Amino acid sequence: MSKPMSSVFSEIFVNNLFELDSNACKCEKDTKNVVPGEPPETTLKIYSLSDRPIHFSYSDKDGLNLTGPQGRVIIKNILGQVLALKEGDADGVIRLIEKAGFILPISFQNYEAIEFNALMKIIRRIKATVNLMNAIDGKNIYEQMRMFQAMTYLLYDDPIELDLEGMRYVTCPHALNELLRKPIPLRDFRGDRDSILENGNFEVSDSISSSGRAEVSHDLYNQMQMGSFGTIPGQGSSNYRNLFFAYISTMKKQSDWAPIVDFYMNYQNQAGIIDYVDLDSITYYDPKAQFSLNDNLKKALPKVARMVLSNEINHNISSIHMQYDGEGLAPKWKIETLLQALYFAIFYMKPGIKMYKRCANPNCKRDVFFLTDRTKTNKEYCSTQCRSAAGQRRRRLGEQAEKKPQS
Ligand SMILES: [Zn+2]
Repeated sequence: MSKPMSSVFSEIFVNNLFELDSNACKCEKDTKNVVPGEPPETTLKIYSLSDRPIHFSYSDKDGLNLTGPQGRVIIKNILGQVLALKEGDADGVIRLIEKAGFILPISFQNYEAIEFNALMKIIRRIKATVNLMNAIDGKNIYEQMRMFQAMTYLLYDDPIELDLEGMRYVTCPHALNELLRKPIPLRDFRGDRDSILENGNFEVSDSISSSGRAEVSHDLYNQMQMGSFGTIPGQGSSNYRNLFFAYISTMKKQSDWAPIVDFYMNYQNQAGIIDYVDLDSITYYDPKAQFSLNDNLKKALPKVARMVLSNEINHNISSIHMQYDGEGLAPKWKIETLLQALYFAIFYMKPGIKMYKRCANPNCKRDVFFLTDRTKTNKEYCSTQCRSAAGQRRRRLGEQAEKKPQS
């Protein structure tokens, strides 16, 4: 890209807001009982309402807002509303869809069926992306843990797709996820003969180690290839084995996934082998294992996290393009879906400058998650109403505590 063009780009990124026209939807819930004793399967049936046009616009101060036909704000900070959706709360999701429409284009004529669990996975990915963005420059152990947690969720959770009348959407297919699910061709050992004969080891490139290289024992390779469970809990799991084969692969040299594979191999060898990853927790095969990073992993974490974050966001905004608006004689972003708008709003968060914070008023009815400057560490409430409500609550609790008889 030539220089003038890139300066035009950055100006638009900084100054231009974006807008999106859409429609509110009607959303019904179909519940089917499938397996006795297990929660029912929920399907959302949705169609777009042609007589309910809605409009989204992004402002630097309030984030993504939903406005009605006359420009009146109906919902402030839609991204905050999405972040506040509770796990498994189909009714909360339906309320939001009926006001703000669906995240993807929906038919005006027919009901489109969306598996609630699939939609929930997309919502969790949005939450994980925001968590990752919020923690990306973090230096302390808690922020590193949040960064690692969010990044690992995005990588380990298997991709899902929504097949709609007008569009097919697939969540970001990260290379690591594919490598974990499908083994790559086994290493060709022809070049390693001498070193295996000499000391039983072969050498692999390793971007985490200080020397850039690591020695792997050929016996370990044989064990892994036979799928024996070894002495380390989880060593025989398919995720770990497939990661191992990617780690020692000579294909790593030409790949763009090497830093991520190296990171997870070194991490698991140090902390423990990962069994199951959820949005807020990671389970290890070894019950005693827990999150920990050595100095080399600490150095690599922000780099790897940035790779994952940019993959995730780029995948979701890649079809957004610029359009020249003849009327205003200015370039403008052409956004087609609410999902793109949500990811664009995350993109605009500017890591290190803006972040989404949970309102400290436990009874907050407004934003729950609000957008604020990262530097304003003292801003704890979404609004003055919440600040005074929380103050009153504290005083009330204080009085109650005083009234309690001494025991
Ligand atoms: Zn609040």
